[in-house]
Amino acid sequence: MSFVSKLKDIIFQDVQNENETKKTAVSLRINAIIMGLYFIFLCVTFLTERETDMGIISGACFVLYAIAFWLTYLNHTKSALWFAEILSIAWIVTFVYQLGWDCGVQHFIFVLILMIFTPGFISNSVKLIHSVFLFVTRMGLFMYARNFPAVNQLPSDVTVVLQVMNTFFIFLALVAGLLLFTYDSAQMEEKLMKYNKKLHKLASEDPLTGLMNRRSILTKVQKYQAENREDIGPCVAIGDLDHFKRINDTYGHEAGDEVLKAAADFFTSFMNGKGYVGRWGGEEFLFVFPNCNLDEAKIYLLDLLKELRKIEIPYNDQVIRFTMTVGAEECGGEDIEKTINAADNKLYMGKESGRDKVVC
Ligand code: GH3
Ligand code: MG
Ligand code: MG
Repeated sequence: MSFVSKLKDIIFQDVQNENETKKTAVSLRINAIIMGLYFIFLCVTFLTERETDMGIISGACFVLYAIAFWLTYLNHTKSALWFAEILSIAWIVTFVYQLGWDCGVQHFIFVLILMIFTPGFISNSVKLIHSVFLFVTRMGLFMYARNFPAVNQLPSDVTVVLQVMNTFFIFLALVAGLLLFTYDSAQMEEKLMKYNKKLHKLASEDPLTGLMNRRSILTKVQKYQAENREDIGPCVAIGDLDHFKRINDTYGHEAGDEVLKAAADFFTSFMNGKGYVGRWGGEEFLFVFPNCNLDEAKIYLLDLLKELRKIEIPYNDQVIRFTMTVGAEECGGEDIEKTINAADNKLYMGKESGRDKVVC
């Protein structure tokens, strides 16, 4: 295993406690590594500039961040988070006291806001109280630095190096923290969108035939009616497979399902470019012909029945054939459900008068 993948494994190691989140522990580890690197750079810079006191303080901070890193493996993420927070505030205050406002370390307080706002286990009120506390701390430091001179007056070139390093490490800590937390939520969002699509499909599609279900096709027609005010149509037709119970009784329920699926596939391809079809329930189907009068719809439906009679479904060495009776009605701008009822009455008349026909 390469060094990088080993390091990755260590950083992304899961927490053992069931009620602890891995994400917070990982973000604390990454933060501790970034801060550790920062203090190594500071320590080297101060020691080469013969600022021994600040070099020792920076070295101590490095050790404390190493402890903060180690704490995240003890399955007390909350304690590790508060340790990192207190440590950050302590060194920021110390540095401003020692080096003054110009050293720029006070900007690390913004990283603390990110750290406190990202974990899910901290309540909103604690987050807000904490933000106020950080604001007061920053203002307090500013007032102090305005009124009191720094203990250590750094040469201006060291101050410049410090400013550059601070800017770099603050950006690094913010970007790393945000990447970690937004990566997760972006993934969650994508998952949720897929799940919503699946739910929508489940709620609107008939599972056996894949056609729109009753509710879905009704909503579609109503929406179409609300959006289009054409002079003719839409025409609706209810088709009911003839003697379907007989098919079930003769060949079995499974064969009946195969017939329904084959009929649905045929209806879908037939209606392509003419309108749409849905499963109205059982062996009944609703056909919608938008912008079409009853004469045109009848021609289509007669053609549909003609083609339907030709369908042969092979089932266990046998061939199943079937027919359908249809009742159709044109919607003259009235409630579509009334039109569907009228079509249903005509379907009943078709059944009464011999089946396998279109009644308009
Ligand atoms: P008619 O010509 O008067 O319409 O006679 P029919 O036998 O088609 O009508 P009936 O209402 O007596 O029976 C419909 C049958 O359709 C009864 C029911 O078990 C069957 N059925 C409903 N849904 C399904 C399904 O999803 N799969 C199968 N295999 N059968 C179904
Ligand atoms: Mg029926
Ligand atoms: Mg039937």
